[in-house]
Amino acid sequence: MTENTTSLLDSVLNQLDTTAKMVELSPDIHEILRYPKRVLQVACPVKMDNGTVRVFTGYRVQHQDARGPYKGGIRYHPKVGLDEVTALAMLMTWKCAVVDIPYGGAKGGVVCDPDKLTLGEKEKVTRRYTSMISELIGPYKDVPAPDIATDPQTMAWIMDTYSQMKGYLIPEVVTGKPIDVGGSEGRVEATARGLIFCLNEAMKIRGYKPQGTTVVVQGTGNVGGNAATLLHQMGYRIVALSDSRSAIHNPKGIDPNKALTYKAEKGSFKGYPDAEQTTNEELLTTQCDILVPAAMENQITKTNANRIKARIVIEGANGPTTPEGNTIMESNGILVVPDILANAGGVVVSYLEWIQNLHREHWKAEEVNERLKEKMVKSFYDVIETTKKYDVDMRNAANALAVGRVSSALKLLGIWP
Ligand code: NAD
Repeated sequence: MTENTTSLLDSVLNQLDTTAKMVELSPDIHEILRYPKRVLQVACPVKMDNGTVRVFTGYRVQHQDARGPYKGGIRYHPKVGLDEVTALAMLMTWKCAVVDIPYGGAKGGVVCDPDKLTLGEKEKVTRRYTSMISELIGPYKDVPAPDIATDPQTMAWIMDTYSQMKGYLIPEVVTGKPIDVGGSEGRVEATARGLIFCLNEAMKIRGYKPQGTTVVVQGTGNVGGNAATLLHQMGYRIVALSDSRSAIHNPKGIDPNKALTYKAEKGSFKGYPDAEQTTNEELLTTQCDILVPAAMENQITKTNANRIKARIVIEGANGPTTPEGNTIMESNGILVVPDILANAGGVVVSYLEWIQNLHREHWKAEEVNERLKEKMVKSFYDVIETTKKYDVDMRNAANALAVGRVSSALKLLGIWP
């Protein structure tokens, strides 16, 4: 589902302008926040397995660091572009502020089709890209993490490349690493778990109980796959699932463990025996109580928002809803829990991983999950309080809270020189 008339960057800037009016932001700070502080584009030459050389374009965009080092994932996708990475870097600034962790916002990306790279080629792309952005990143400067099509192994290569260049092991330069090289317990499922901690509170507000509540999940990677599995364990009924190539629907319920095992073996959900085939487009408007968009941006737009039947939409992906899509859903009485709050669990546990690395500690899973829960529940109610203060929906409230916090830091720091 796309509506390419509004780019993600347009949406993010429009939201900032709306928020600025709402919180009566100083025009100077508004102007500062409309731009990334630093943008780097790199051309990474890589010798492919067949002996030819290909040049991959990569980006690292740093939006704002008034509250702490830059933080943000690295995505591998054929459609990665500078505007998209800039928008995602801004979203990271707001996300870190909304959950009140001492980080700024950044994002990175490499234009490539990860499905067409061998493991060895992916490693070479990662290492060359890391070396070319190495001046910008660092434990107290900018700490990358996983995003679309990058995973703990990718993070281990980033850590190793950076460490080799500096001459000693520096695990705190990147988060989302495998546990054996400084990763945190609970990081892999952190975004999904954080989303569920928010959903639990949204369910209380609506007076719903998990047992039998129906859920549709778009995208079954790190965020969507883990969310579906955890929700199934909690008694929710998963009625539809998708990936980039296929989508399945069964109103009686789908066991995500079985469906994901099938997908891992066959490459997609095509031919899955215990459900009907559907499309990503139809999936979003399927009858359900909860919709979890956990794939890509710009999925819920003015074209399909009126047909969304869910009562709660909780955003696993970054920017899955356009501003028009959001307005339509809100006017239809749907509770929309926005991305910068709902999917912040990943960056919260990244922050916990960074603290563990800086102190050379390793915490138990229970401790990590408990701290995550505390952060997510507090942030959820901080946003609810802000909805009351400004009489707005959760998206506008989350943005108001975040922009207010960043603005306060910027004011206190002043402008140098
Ligand atoms: P992933 O690569 O692990 O999974 C992405 C999933 O989306 C895959 O199942 C893929 O097949 C599917 N997909 C891709 N294009 C699609 C399309 N057009 N229609 C339907 N499905 C499609 O990525 P991820 O880490 O799970 O990230 C998913 C979203 O969540 C992204 O927007 C990402 O920025 C956001 N996010 C991720 C994290 C994290 O910790 N991984 C944290 C916060 C936000």
